[in-house]
Formats: sequence, C-alpha cells, structure tokens
Amino acid sequence: MALLEVSNLDVRFALRQGEVKALRDVSFTLDRGERLGIVGESGAGKSVAAFTILNLIARPGYIAGGSIRFDDRELTTMKPRQLQQIRGNKISMIFQDPMMTLNPVLTIGEQMVECLKAHRRIRTRAAREIALNKLRQVHIPSPEKRLDQYPHELSGGMRQRIIIAIALLLDPDIIVADEPTTALDVTIQAEIMSLLLELCEKHNVALVLITHDLGVVSQVTQRTLVMYAGRVIEQGPTREIINDAQHPYTQGLINALPQMATPGSRLNQIPGAMPTLAKIPPGCAFHPRCSFAFNDDGSPRRDCREVIPGFVRSGNCDVACHMVRDLVENDSDARDPVE
Ligand code: SF4
Ligand code: MG
Repeated sequence: MALLEVSNLDVRFALRQGEVKALRDVSFTLDRGERLGIVGESGAGKSVAAFTILNLIARPGYIAGGSIRFDDRELTTMKPRQLQQIRGNKISMIFQDPMMTLNPVLTIGEQMVECLKAHRRIRTRAAREIALNKLRQVHIPSPEKRLDQYPHELSGGMRQRIIIAIALLLDPDIIVADEPTTALDVTIQAEIMSLLLELCEKHNVALVLITHDLGVVSQVTQRTLVMYAGRVIEQGPTREIINDAQHPYTQGLINALPQMATPGSRLNQIPGAMPTLAKIPPGCAFHPRCSFAFNDDGSPRRDCREVIPGFVRSGNCDVACHMVRDLVENDSDARDPVE
C-alpha cells in the first residue's frame, strides 16, 4: 500500500467571476521513502497540489472531488484537530520563502521548542536538546549559538537549513517542499538540495518536491509528475522523463533547459504562455502551443482541440496526449498484426 494516495483530485476556487478549476483529476501515489518531483511552469497547479495534500487550501479554494489517503486514512474529510496532528507531525512542509515559516520575533530555539511542545508532551530542556540535534543534522555551523539567534540574523541559506531542521523536527513520514531553493543563490541552491536529499535518504522520509526546475528534479527525485493547466500530463520514472520525454510539453521543458542549448545560442523556450485557469482551452489545454497538434496535411488535429486526452502507457510513463496514443497504438499494431 502506498504511503500517500491521491486519486482524482479536483480543486476549485469559487471566485466572483465564476468557478476556477485549479486541479483536475490529479492522481498519484507516493511510497515510503520515495522522492517525487512535481514540475511545470508557474500557474500549472503545482503549489495548489502541495497545499491540498496538507489540506491547507483556504477559501475561496475547496476540494470539489477525489480523495487523499495518507497511511490508509482519508484526509479530505478529516476533522481539523486530527489533521493538525498529521500536519507537522507526519507530513511537514517547506515553503519557498523561509520567512513564511519562521517567526521574526522568536529565536530559532524558541520556535523549535514551541513546535515540539505543540505536538508532544515534552520539557523545554529536552525539546532544546532535540532542536540542537536537528540543527547538527543540517550541518549548521555553531548550532548552539543559532538557537539563540533571530531569523534576521542569519543568511538566506542558513535560514533554509533551519527550515529543513524544523521540517524534520517531529520525524515526519513525508516532507512537501514547494520551490525550496528558488529564493537562494545558485551555489547555495545546490547545497540545500543535496542536504535535503541526504536527510530524506538517511531517515527514509518521502519527499514531494515542487519545482519548475527539471535539473533539480533529476538530481533529487526518482519519479516525476509533470503538470499543465491543473492536470497531470505525464508521469513516470525521472530518468525516463528526462532522457526520453514523450509529451510535447515535457519535451519543451527539457529543450528549454540551459544545459540543452548550444553555448551562445538562444534558449528554446516553448512559444506562448500557460493559460490562466479561468480560460483553459478546450481539448488538450496545451494545443495552442503544441507543434504536434496538426495532421500530416498541416490541418489542425480535431481531437487535440476538442477531446481531453486520457493517459496512455508509453515505456514506464503515463502520458496524456493524442499524438503519443497514436504512436503507441501504431507501434503495437505493427508488433501484433491483426489476422
Ligand atoms: Fe499536442 Fe495534441 Fe498531444 Fe496536446 S494532445 S500535447 S495538442 S499533440
Ligand atoms: Mg508555486
């Protein structure tokens, strides 16, 4: 049984202008100790997916359908108190901006102790000892001294290490990290990612890593889920997705990686922009940007414009694309000729 099982999740935002579908039919699983990347451009619904796992979707957002099972318990219908126990304790979250988590008026030690005391019956001295231990695990220089410092006294990289220490404080089963290094310098980004990887491996913590950066995904995760306009459009083993992406959007993301460009040439950005969730194109939401949405004679493919593509298995990946479906079907026809 998977540790986390998200099935057919629908999340909507009830806005004055009407309902916006932020997530549609999102399904994935996460095993104990597994590391999953969720990628896509901004506006794809990655953060909404992350927040929904922790049931942190705030009004006007709401879960319109589907289920989220953690350790065989349904989270979408759980009482706030029970959920509070799971959040932080079993599933913890790392946000993009450390200042969203850190309280500026408390010392690092005070907030870590407070967090421990909120979830466990524990004396201050013992809590401080655990906090110190976690700071050591994230390789912070002079950890004793950090306990008595305030967030503003620390560098961005150090603050993010502290956030990781806090995320690990209650020995969670899952860490959900939303763009955890976006606000940092490139060199520090790499250090923080390898720290996160090291700690998840060491403590067998599962990781859901939300990022727009496929480079980071390939460094850290075993499985990848690619999102576009609120839907999952491709998922599978990270190595296969990076080396042999099937969906035109994923291919576009990979071709846009700086490493893929010839030095001195311009990056191959995907033309156009992600649609806003209020105006998702019919059929395959990617069709206005897709160079495969045409027949051999150059006329537009009708299915791309009218029918939402279902998943088709290609290699070890699930891909939602009509063109890929045709390729897979032709391939299997060629292999087993009909008599
Ligand atoms: Fe392109 Fe059509 Fe595939 Fe969508 S379904 S990615 S428009 S080929
Ligand atoms: Mg985001």
